[in-house]
Amino acid sequence: MEQVVTENQKKTKQKVYLSVNKFTLIIALYYTLVFNYTFISSFETAIVALDTFSYGFAISVPFFLFFVLSLLFSLFTVKYITKPLFIIVTVLSSTVFYASLMYGIVFDYTMIQNIYETDNSEASTYINFAAVMFVALTGIVPAYAIYKVNINYQPALQTLKSKAVLMLTMLAGILIIAFSYYQNYASVLRNNSQLKRTIVPTYYLGSSVKFFKKEFFTAPIKYQVLGTDAKVIKPEENGKPNLVVIVVGETARAMNYSYNGYQKDTNTYTQNQGLVSFQNVSSCGTATAVSLPCMFSDMSREDYDSHIVKHRDNVLDVIKKSGIDVSWIDNNSGCKGICNRVDNFNIPTDSEHELCDGAYCYDERLLSELEQKIGQTEPNDKLIILHLIGSHGPTYYRRYPQTYKKFVPDCPRSDIQNCTDEALINTYDNTISYTDYVLSRVIEQLKVKENTFNTSMLYISDHGESLGENGLYLHGLPYSIAPDHQTKVPFLLWLPDQFAVTNKIDKQCIINNAKVNEYSHDNLYHSLISIMNVQTSDYTQDLDIFADCRSNPSIIQ
Ligand SMILES: [Zn+2]
Repeated sequence: MEQVVTENQKKTKQKVYLSVNKFTLIIALYYTLVFNYTFISSFETAIVALDTFSYGFAISVPFFLFFVLSLLFSLFTVKYITKPLFIIVTVLSSTVFYASLMYGIVFDYTMIQNIYETDNSEASTYINFAAVMFVALTGIVPAYAIYKVNINYQPALQTLKSKAVLMLTMLAGILIIAFSYYQNYASVLRNNSQLKRTIVPTYYLGSSVKFFKKEFFTAPIKYQVLGTDAKVIKPEENGKPNLVVIVVGETARAMNYSYNGYQKDTNTYTQNQGLVSFQNVSSCGTATAVSLPCMFSDMSREDYDSHIVKHRDNVLDVIKKSGIDVSWIDNNSGCKGICNRVDNFNIPTDSEHELCDGAYCYDERLLSELEQKIGQTEPNDKLIILHLIGSHGPTYYRRYPQTYKKFVPDCPRSDIQNCTDEALINTYDNTISYTDYVLSRVIEQLKVKENTFNTSMLYISDHGESLGENGLYLHGLPYSIAPDHQTKVPFLLWLPDQFAVTNKIDKQCIINNAKVNEYSHDNLYHSLISIMNVQTSDYTQDLDIFADCRSNPSIIQ
């Protein structure tokens, strides 16, 4: 029989058409089985660990998620919106899935803030072959399929009807599971609060909405001025101004310092310079975007609010008001707003400088800037902050020159989870050792100035890092569940006799306290006010680490 095929039919034959509902179900199934692998497998692990194991409950988990996602996605499978929306969300979800699967990263409010405040060169360090292949296969290929597929949109009323049927069916599925296993779900979710944070795409999209809402649509906050009464009152004069350098570390964790009992020699350069190491110091956050503004603010970790802090003076503003020169020199991704009202300088990363490669500079680069800054103005009291790139991952190997590669073999790649534990930790320890070298050079520089200044140096890191312990890498976990690797930071003080004597600080008392007392970033604001001999009502003596050890109480308000 002769076939009669019209042009239109030919076209129809070549193309694949999907109804809106079929499209929704396929996407929901893909998200359930691929992007929510972490969620489902962690959930199943939690179920297996229960005293009473139920097969029905275990099997219901992927179905429950599938029903929920289908119901949710149905709301967005609307003509003109479906394709662009799901193309973007699929690529984003694939990236999120990679980061959580490989590094255990949680995309909460703070992580979204980190991503938003990260510069390009920082973001590019996460790109490597494995990551690109992963996102290409699980994100770009499906996104291309979404782009190519033909969705058969029916007239509005008909679409509405079939959507309603699909949504009611999914709702029925959800309700049946909820009625059968409500207690089980409630109990597992209550005891494993981290589980909901791994659901893709709802959790990271929800966090993003929260962040952008707060960032851009919150009522303006009145700016809070602090330290209007700030003035310098010195306990004793020896004719020399004070010069204090604060070195702010990046991603350095306390346990990898020989000073804190680490078995490897990561502090060889400074070991004869008489540094005091505070043994138990907690960070304010687990990421730069939180820790940095928090440690310089008068807000405690519990009270810290990322929105309020932007509309409030910090300790640098208070110290500047007392007449002390305050300068910030940055070799990282900026000061996150802290240095906006004081003298500040970002080191350019142009590869023309031998210590820079176009994207980053080694921290040694800060030394010449420090020298210049000290000599720039008349010798009066100065506070200079050096912001290191320190141990910024995952490209730890790019933080130190080859000549400072002390621990080998190292891991010269960014997909660090594919290195052996030994190589990864060697690489990280090389960054700690190189930071130690830079600190030793800062101290040498300050020693030379002792004829003109009473000099001192303080080093503190912003947060720690996970290096594969319990399958976790990098940092940024919610504080409540973050391990000590991410929250315990090194805090070192170089307090030469000249400075200690003139400023009436009992060094032995500090050494003793450093061994036994617990400190945190909450102490920094008040301790900086104290070490600079600033008197102000915006100061709390209890949080000043020097307060107990100053023989002249007149300085203490
Ligand atoms: Zn950081």
